[in-house]
Amino acid sequence: MTINNIELPIPSRDEVLFVALGGLGEIGMNLALYGHDGAWIAVDMGVTFGDEETPGVDVIIPDISVIDGLGDKLKGVLITHAHEDHIGGIPYLAGRFKCPVFCSPFAAAFLRRKLEDDGGRRGKKVKIVEIPSGERRAVGPFDAELIPMPHSIPEAHLTALRSGAGLVVHTGDWKLDPDPVIGFPADEKRLAALGEEGVAALVCDSTNALRTGWTRSEGELAEPLTEIVKSSDRRVLFACFSSNVARLRTIALAAQAAGREVGLVGRSLWRMHDVAGGLGYLKGLPKFLREDELGRLPANRMVAICTGSQGEPRAALHRIVEGQHRHVEVDPADMVIFSSRDIPGNEKAIGRLQNRLVAIGVDVVTDGTAMVHVSGHPARDELQHLYGLLKPARLLPAHGEGRHLDGHAKFAIECGVAEAKVAFNGDVMRLTGGDFEQLTKVKVGRVGIDGEARVSLTGNSMKERRKMRLDGVALITVVLDDKGRIAADSMVTISGLDAGDDPEILDDIEEAIDGAVEELAIKARRDDNAIEDAARSALRRELRKHTGKRPQINVHVVRV
Ligand SMILES: [Zn+2]
Ligand SMILES: [Zn+2]
Repeated sequence: MTINNIELPIPSRDEVLFVALGGLGEIGMNLALYGHDGAWIAVDMGVTFGDEETPGVDVIIPDISVIDGLGDKLKGVLITHAHEDHIGGIPYLAGRFKCPVFCSPFAAAFLRRKLEDDGGRRGKKVKIVEIPSGERRAVGPFDAELIPMPHSIPEAHLTALRSGAGLVVHTGDWKLDPDPVIGFPADEKRLAALGEEGVAALVCDSTNALRTGWTRSEGELAEPLTEIVKSSDRRVLFACFSSNVARLRTIALAAQAAGREVGLVGRSLWRMHDVAGGLGYLKGLPKFLREDELGRLPANRMVAICTGSQGEPRAALHRIVEGQHRHVEVDPADMVIFSSRDIPGNEKAIGRLQNRLVAIGVDVVTDGTAMVHVSGHPARDELQHLYGLLKPARLLPAHGEGRHLDGHAKFAIECGVAEAKVAFNGDVMRLTGGDFEQLTKVKVGRVGIDGEARVSLTGNSMKERRKMRLDGVALITVVLDDKGRIAADSMVTISGLDAGDDPEILDDIEEAIDGAVEELAIKARRDDNAIEDAARSALRRELRKHTGKRPQINVHVVRV
């Protein structure tokens, strides 16, 4: 199958087709397309984050050439919830589609704020249509219903997509939490009614599909978090995801119960505070203190909630640890609680941050050592419970790496789901109206956001960046006269290697380069490529004697 095809098939009125441009085979960057009766809609448009493999790139968006190819056949973008891996791509991609974005009031408020914070440069033209939780609206060829589910952010939804070709359910991210702290437990009657109606296909969260049991309830955290705050007579800092408004509530109430005031440190927490507060999600909580107010409190009277649970260098916790924060500091015997999970790929950065804290003498508490975090995704018993309610005829696992998708599909079959198929990004699957099978494959990919530029993650520039980071970079200047003779001593600078600071090594290299160029035949000396090759191999040869490194080498040939 060709993979550069950007043209999707035209879905008939008897079928529902599905393809993911992100989110299958990875956790992050979710973007699913559903097609029916000649038109398509997108469900979610998320981002993922860069790591050590993508130096200089913090945010990664999906390649949406396929959506460009759809033109006005894309009728809507429906957002399940406001997590970055589901909504974060909109500011970057909004200029590429003309249809409205449909989402609940919370996601709409969050998205408007995000677009504003970007100074309106990106995504000015986004038309946002609100669908209140629990309601139904026409979205392109589908009748879409947003059914609220507990998760780790307010207003997460399971989406029922009805059409003449059957009912398809896209779960989004969910758990079955009897005490979600914000919002309500899942409406099992509503879900069972979908099951009675007949779910032709279920596209379902696989994040925790390899975990047995039932994910613990957000409500179970109140007591241990209160106890842990009470146990300290020093500063207590929490690191958690800013989007986890239920957790902010639990921590604020724990602080209050321990006789302390609570404040927020970090921009994304304040943004979430404003959005959630504006919709009434912070009612009944003590007022959150500003960073300067927090800094003036005695150590045993404060609880700070900070951004930076993933070790992000620009986030509040990192700056506090490095002593660079204007108002908040940590001292020995203070306590820092990571009320969050380690997102795969961030382990090293988190480890470095925690090691720094331990070195200072801070008491570091993580979910590995204490009950300070619960997941927002369903484990196996919850998956099985949902299959029991929805009774899907077909299952397509989503929101997972390959091992999660595969484990989820096998588990569903064990639980009695008739058909379960694993698909990856780009696989166009028929969900209803014929065999459950892959029809074709379309182009998918990842695009890095580097400042204002888009960069390929597979192209040369990223390869060179990785090489420069690992092996340094050398710049050679060779100056020749019009006859191809050396007109001035060659010059070499090396960055990122100790050899670059050693004048003797640099002298040796420069001499070797001059020698290599002089050895070239007259004809070759008129050819810039030949000069570059000779200079490059002379530098490599010399450097091999002093260090084993092979830096990225750039040669400038100057003719005077
Ligand atoms: Zn997600
Ligand atoms: Zn989520």
